[in-house]
Formats: sequence, C-alpha cells, structure tokens
Amino acid sequence: MSKAFASRADLEEKKVTFSRLSHNAYAYTAEGDPNTGVIIGDDAVMIIDTQATPVMARDVIAKIRSVTDKPIRYVVLSHYHAVRVLGASAYGADQIIASQDTRDLIVERGEQDYKSEYERFPRLFQAVDSIPGLTWPNITFKGEMTVWMGKTEVKLLQLGRGHTKGDTVAWLPAEKVLFSGDLVEYNATPYTGDAYLTEWPQTLDRVAALGAERLVPGRGDALTTPATVKAALDGTRAFVTQMYESVKAGRAAGKPLKQVYAETYAWLKPKFGEWVIFDHCLPFDVSRAYDEAGGTRDPRIWTAARDAQMWQDLASE
Ligand SMILES: [Zn+2]
Repeated sequence: MSKAFASRADLEEKKVTFSRLSHNAYAYTAEGDPNTGVIIGDDAVMIIDTQATPVMARDVIAKIRSVTDKPIRYVVLSHYHAVRVLGASAYGADQIIASQDTRDLIVERGEQDYKSEYERFPRLFQAVDSIPGLTWPNITFKGEMTVWMGKTEVKLLQLGRGHTKGDTVAWLPAEKVLFSGDLVEYNATPYTGDAYLTEWPQTLDRVAALGAERLVPGRGDALTTPATVKAALDGTRAFVTQMYESVKAGRAAGKPLKQVYAETYAWLKPKFGEWVIFDHCLPFDVSRAYDEAGGTRDPRIWTAARDAQMWQDLASE
C-alpha cells in the first residue's frame, strides 16, 4: 500500500490574523497556510493572491469589510498555483492581473495543477465545490506595470524566475511594503516543484535590492521590521541553495534519485525541519532539482498520477 502524502496528516485548523502593515497595506495570514495581501488604495482595494476557494475568500472579504467599504477592483496573481488563485471569483473584481508567463502556465497546466494540488492538500481547499473553474487573468504584462488607485501607486514587478516562471511581486514604493508571493517564505519550507533553482538566488538579489522594510511572504507571518525581512530572504536563499547544491552533487556523482532524496533529506532536516510543510515539500523539491541538475530546463507538469507515483518511489519506506 502506498503511503499517504505527508500533508494528509496536516489537519489542524490554523488561526487567521488580519494585520495592518502600513497606511495602505494589510496581510491575511494563517500560521503558514497561504497568505493573501490586501492594499487599500484611495478609491479601491487590491487583493494579492486569493485563497484556494471562493468560500475561503469570503473570510478575507469579511476582514476587509471590517476596515473599509471601498470596492475591490483588482486581483493580482503572484503566480499560477491553484491554492492561491482559485478563490478569485468571490471578490467580484473587474481586473484580474498576472504576468503573461503566469497566464501561459495556466493555459498549459492550470487544470492539471488544480487536480494535483487538491489531491496533495485537501485541507487547503475548503468547500472545493465552490470553485467555478480556472481563474483567467484579463490583464497581463511583461516585466513591470503600475496600478494607480487614486494617488496610491502599486508596482507589479516580474524580477526573474524563481518559485515559478511567472513570479510577480507587488510593491508599494512610498511605504516600502512588499508582497512577495512564494518567492520568499518565512518559517515555511519553500516549494520548488515548479521552480528554476539556478535562477532563484539572483531573483532574490533583485527582491532584496528593492529595500523592503515590511514584507508579506507567501507563507508565514507578515514581517514588520527590516531585520525580519532580511531573515526571510536569507532563510529562503539558504534553503533553495543548499537543497539544490546537495541534489546537484548527488546527480553529478551518478546517484539515483531515491538515494539523492534520502541524503538531501538527512542533510536539510536538522536545519530546516521545523519549518511548516518540510516533509510535504521535500520530495517534490528534490524531484525538480534532480531534473534541473540533469538539464531539464522547464519543470515537468505535475499530475495527480505523477504525484502519487513520485511519493511512492521516494517517500515510502
Ligand atoms: Zn506556489
């Protein structure tokens, strides 16, 4: 019998926090579950990442309505992952914005990703039947765009590949607040199953160069000091770099994937094993790293069947 995904044992209800970071910026966080960013501009509200389902998004909307009655006009997708985008319909926003690369990934693999993510982590998809289908961005950009909500300036920046090909951050330059999506995590294990591991550190250099003083990571608490922002950037970089170096060295030495996984797990567990979803992420992370180290440039599509096979190959005893 195959072993269930590690995430299937992760059933504990998480405590939600809705906190104000600056005049315009708020964070909806949940102890390591996927975060949603909120920017309340002069005349409208912007959401950065939606939660997994419309029913879950309604809780975000309730928090927003406790502080403003301005209309929610913009939804920004930091990347294509189902757990971040499939709640979009609840907000009723006219503008759904993503990088062109993110939209291309939704076209190419959005449906498979939805099934894969749901099977991996059903707890994160409360009321999955409320999802009306894939979320389609109706505004796309390459590199950079600016949204003005009255006098509130929000820059949407594609700073390079990392967690995915299409990663976008939202930046409030006047307040030095950054919403990073899964490019940066805090006390949460980076998921790298769809990543570009050799490029991620350079992308983090560009993120760091913005000089954010507050940051909402993809997972983990909102960071409200330059020191904790730096800790999140350093921690993400350390994990991504050390995981990839371990896998690359193993592959170069001709070791099979299963052995490389076991060695990488043993090397990283003492350093990063306390971060949430470590056991969940590592098999996917090492699988992608092994591909990339072997010259597979673009991440292969994860399907529910591929997930199950990989988990059985690597994570079962
Ligand atoms: Zn993601």
